[in-house]
Amino acid sequence: MNKPASVPEQCDAVVVGAGFSGLYMLYRLRQLGLSVKVFDSAGDVGGTWYWNRYPGARCDIPTTDYTYSFDPELEKEWTWSEKYATQPEILEYLRFVADRHGLRSDIEFSVTVTSARWDEPEKRWRITTDGGREVRCRYYIMATGCLSTPKSPDIQGAGRFTGQVYFTSRWPHEGADFTGQRVAVIGTGSSGIQSIPLVARQARQLAVFQRTANFSVPAHNGPAPAGRLEQLDEDRVAYRHAARWSRGGVPNEPTDVLGVTASGSVRRERFEAAWEQGELFGILNVFADQGVNPASNDIVAEMIREKIRSAVEDPETAEALCPKDHYFGTKRPCLDTGYFETYNLPHVRLVDLRKQPIVSITEDGIETADESFGFDAIVYATGFDAMTGALVAADVAGRDGLSLKEKWAAGPSTYLGLMTAGFPNFFMLTGPGSPSVLSNMTVSIEQHVDWVAGCLEDMREEGLETIEPTALAEAGWDQHVQDCAAITLYPTANSWYMGANVPGKPRVFLPYIGGVSAYRQACDEVVSQGYLGFRMTGPGGVRCRDGVVRRMQPDVAMVLELVAAMGMPPMDTLSAADARALLAATAATRPPGPEVGEVIDGVIPGPAGELPYRLYRPAGPPEGPRPLVVYFHGGGWVLGNLDSDDPLCRDLCARSGAVIVSVNYRHAPEARFPAAALDALAAVQWVDANAIELGGIPGQLAVAGWSAGANIAAVACQLARDTGGPHISGQVLICPVVDSDTTRLSYQENGDGYILTTALMQWFWDHYADPADRGDPRAAPLRGDLEGLPPACIIAADFDPLRDEGVAYARALEAAGVPVRLARARGHTHTSVTMVGVVISGAPVRAEIGEALRDFFPSAEPQEHLS
Ligand code: NAP
Repeated sequence: MNKPASVPEQCDAVVVGAGFSGLYMLYRLRQLGLSVKVFDSAGDVGGTWYWNRYPGARCDIPTTDYTYSFDPELEKEWTWSEKYATQPEILEYLRFVADRHGLRSDIEFSVTVTSARWDEPEKRWRITTDGGREVRCRYYIMATGCLSTPKSPDIQGAGRFTGQVYFTSRWPHEGADFTGQRVAVIGTGSSGIQSIPLVARQARQLAVFQRTANFSVPAHNGPAPAGRLEQLDEDRVAYRHAARWSRGGVPNEPTDVLGVTASGSVRRERFEAAWEQGELFGILNVFADQGVNPASNDIVAEMIREKIRSAVEDPETAEALCPKDHYFGTKRPCLDTGYFETYNLPHVRLVDLRKQPIVSITEDGIETADESFGFDAIVYATGFDAMTGALVAADVAGRDGLSLKEKWAAGPSTYLGLMTAGFPNFFMLTGPGSPSVLSNMTVSIEQHVDWVAGCLEDMREEGLETIEPTALAEAGWDQHVQDCAAITLYPTANSWYMGANVPGKPRVFLPYIGGVSAYRQACDEVVSQGYLGFRMTGPGGVRCRDGVVRRMQPDVAMVLELVAAMGMPPMDTLSAADARALLAATAATRPPGPEVGEVIDGVIPGPAGELPYRLYRPAGPPEGPRPLVVYFHGGGWVLGNLDSDDPLCRDLCARSGAVIVSVNYRHAPEARFPAAALDALAAVQWVDANAIELGGIPGQLAVAGWSAGANIAAVACQLARDTGGPHISGQVLICPVVDSDTTRLSYQENGDGYILTTALMQWFWDHYADPADRGDPRAAPLRGDLEGLPPACIIAADFDPLRDEGVAYARALEAAGVPVRLARARGHTHTSVTMVGVVISGAPVRAEIGEALRDFFPSAEPQEHLS
């Protein structure tokens, strides 16, 4: 069918790829009555399962789950023979599906798309194939898979070898016979680890060239797990539904057991159960915190290393096979059958490239820094240009001729991993920015295909012909994808998830790690909000509801969900005593915050009696006096105490290198306005006067506070200026209350649902100050004289009702000539920045606070080793 045609062919949609995603996309497009051409450079359907025919190739998701769910009859007609089916069986399945639905008539094999150009006047794509054909279509859909473009061998001399060369990703259909041969396998990712035991069965000698040791778990292959089959038989619809709304695309109960707090026996029990189960999502779910907490991750990693050491007889080989340079899971873990035991065979040898790197491939073998090896065959199991390789391989140019390769020069940018701005009607199935490779691909594929089909149907009903994301929506999604990755350990590894395996490829975390269910919810929300963030045009008009679907930090959103699930009564419905008890109970369950050098409790004389304080001194050098920071806790002048902000004070102490003196002040309603403000001033004066005794440097004094504590810190600065001192070097105001005006936009936007509500703020004010006093600068420092105040660092959180008054204070201070550093806590709430050890995304904001404090005092140095 590769003959050139003079008249361009026309169809509604061109789909590239006839694997799992291309086949289902074709099926759905046909259902919509669209004319479709599917091109695949392979000779048959199957996608990755067409090409990856190396010995031992299997899926690594149980086949009960790695299967289509769109056709209930198909599910009845096909039974998988094993827990993890082999490549031939999966290929057979895809052929069966293609035949069952008569899909082949719209698929052309051995055809490669070489270029695609968006024709703006025509509102069509012009697709050119390697046979010189031109096809014009409305929709251009990439079903090209995430791991389909092999990485070209980036090894000196590759190409010189005169023996047989094999790539696991392009295995010959006739197979390979290594009987009696000396064989090299380069690469120990999933492909290498699956194939090595089988190559070893035939080869006379096998040398495995390992650059990075990889974590692998025994697959325990055999019949499909009885538990899963039972669940499926009981209620197949419910099972598939659970998969769609799970984290990874396989029904799996996420654990809430934390590795760092679990007992030794619980750790061992959970690990051994996961090891026996032999499933990726099981071993990735031993502890809830193993993906984010290095200490927890190391518990699992060390138990796997123990298993490797006990499987491999030669201690040196065993040690070389133990991964130590990346956290478990941050590179794709493997499932194997007898991989580590293979190294006990006398004719199998591991060559550790960390000790003796490859210098060159030669005519007859491989030369390393230490040795020359002769081989009859070399197998490259060196991986793929993952996730983006196939998308940019064809020359795709969108509106204004911009190529996808150019647009993505610094890393891919997508909206929902489905589309990219500037490329109308160009869809990617399981593209970068979607869960894709971190999930059960079949579940993610069905979700993407259904979304695209639904979108095209909706567009047709509305008389719309083109769709493309807005720049704002896309930037927002890119940010969210990176935010999700940033709270995990994943970006620390040199993995193909990061593009790190391909020399010169930008390092960006490629898949969406937020999970299948969270992702599906975001996609559904986009649709229910009128295709939020998409611009659609056609005879039906122009539609664009611009916006960002996920602006909140992912861990902040999780905390809000947890709090909502706890069903606690709103604070503003409680008495002050009950609210205090509730706060104390929740505070008791938090992580303690970082270790500091010294913590001392004491009292200072206040205007109406003693005030308790807690002093935090940083650990480590330098010995001797440090700058002093007087800190005031949050809690609306009603709640809180020295314990409530203890983790935050430790964090500030460690980050700033200053001595933090946290002072408890009198609370309302027992002591109303201006008691707290007067206590704050007295505390600052006393700390200044006793600087030497407190281990401080006289004259180096700052104030800090959060929420109402920031209110009295700001007020203390104004009062100190007006009442003869002391000199204050700087003020850190975290989400401060600086005004009593609740009509600002941030109150309207964030007044409900983000823990500090408008009602709660009202409750605080009612307890603290009479309405007549609320305009007093000692209650509302924004209304005071701001000239001559100390330099300020103000934190304003996006989802805080107080955001706009914090910003207003920053602007007003600047206008009064005060140096101001306004830090936006992007995606945070009023409380989340202070949640040390819980909200990981708050750490960069607190780092900025630490930096601001150090800037107030040039001599300050932070503690070492702080994440
Ligand atoms: P991979 O995970 O990227 O592994 C490639 C291996 O080759 C790594 O050990 C890599 O070392 C090594 N390598 C690459 N370039 C090298 C060089 N120049 N010199 C020496 N060593 C080099 O690729 P893969 O094994 O094909 O697997 C890719 C992904 O495909 C898997 O992670 C998985 O998602 C999927 N897959 C799944 C299955 C399955 O079980 N269903 C099977 C195969 C593949 P470094 O780590 O040091 O870069």
